[in-house]
Amino acid sequence: MAASGRQQDNTSDTTAAAQSAQPATQDPLHGLVAAETAERIAAMIDAAPTMGHRLMQVVVSLRGNSFAQQVLNIAKAKTPPEGQRAAPRAQKPTAATGAAPKPYQPDDVQRKAGWEQIARAPTRADRAPSEVMLPDSVEKALEKAWQDSIAGGQTTEQGGNLVRTYGGRYELRRQAVDAKPGYTEGTFDPDERDIGWWDTLTAIVHTHPYNEPDSKTNGIDHGTFSGQDLASIIDEEQPLNLLRSGPYTYAISRTKEFNALVKFHENADTKDQLNNAMLKTFDEAFALDAGDFAAKLEAGVVAVCKKFHLNYYRGQGRNLKLVGSK
Ligand SMILES: [Zn+2]
Repeated sequence: MAASGRQQDNTSDTTAAAQSAQPATQDPLHGLVAAETAERIAAMIDAAPTMGHRLMQVVVSLRGNSFAQQVLNIAKAKTPPEGQRAAPRAQKPTAATGAAPKPYQPDDVQRKAGWEQIARAPTRADRAPSEVMLPDSVEKALEKAWQDSIAGGQTTEQGGNLVRTYGGRYELRRQAVDAKPGYTEGTFDPDERDIGWWDTLTAIVHTHPYNEPDSKTNGIDHGTFSGQDLASIIDEEQPLNLLRSGPYTYAISRTKEFNALVKFHENADTKDQLNNAMLKTFDEAFALDAGDFAAKLEAGVVAVCKKFHLNYYRGQGRNLKLVGSK
């Protein structure tokens, strides 16, 4: 952001001069590139990766190929092999102050980018962001769905489709679910076709209202995805499943590896086997876990995600952390 702002400032500064005599200086990047060292240009690319391609074009045209190669070598050495593009920026203050290196902690900008990454398309499993930040509108919509789930002393599972509009906003299109007393997990039936013109389906959303103590939950007021919820993802295509239960929001992020697995079973006509394998994995981990109802459910989810290459996030409010797989 800062970089592009500066770029525009330069444009207005140089407009008068450029119009009068020197068309070659019209591109503000020329001024940046003309007199800088390879190290400084590599640092600019590091600070504003989206400008990198354009900067390199100017470097090649003004300074030649061998200088451009020098810049690229320095820029490559700065970039960590695996991590997100924004990682070096977060680590820079540490290096500058000479303090002991801290474990990588994403900031809010990176968490928001993490959300966009998992909301727009299935990711490569090992490229999953470690933390994501829900847009404000999504958190509010989940909270509303949750309040409706427990309104009037009855628990009613709620759900709907979270869509990204043509303008890039996220909206939850809710579907009415009949009120039923007590434990209602599994009553919400998603309709993937309920999206508007120009909208893209980002997530199927539902709630797990477990707030009535009964023998099954033993008084626990929240619980993550069920085995059936996970197996249903086989027949879906959208990048995310979101779930709200008690104070927690849970997300399952679809991966390219999971898509490949589904494709394989589709081609072999063995989707039922995949479905049953996911349920079995869930049930075995659920049974083995010694914790309470919520912990047993989560053990099931983590086991399924690990084996079948899905990524699992949990958190409260807007911030979710990867707690299963990668
Ligand atoms: Zn469910």
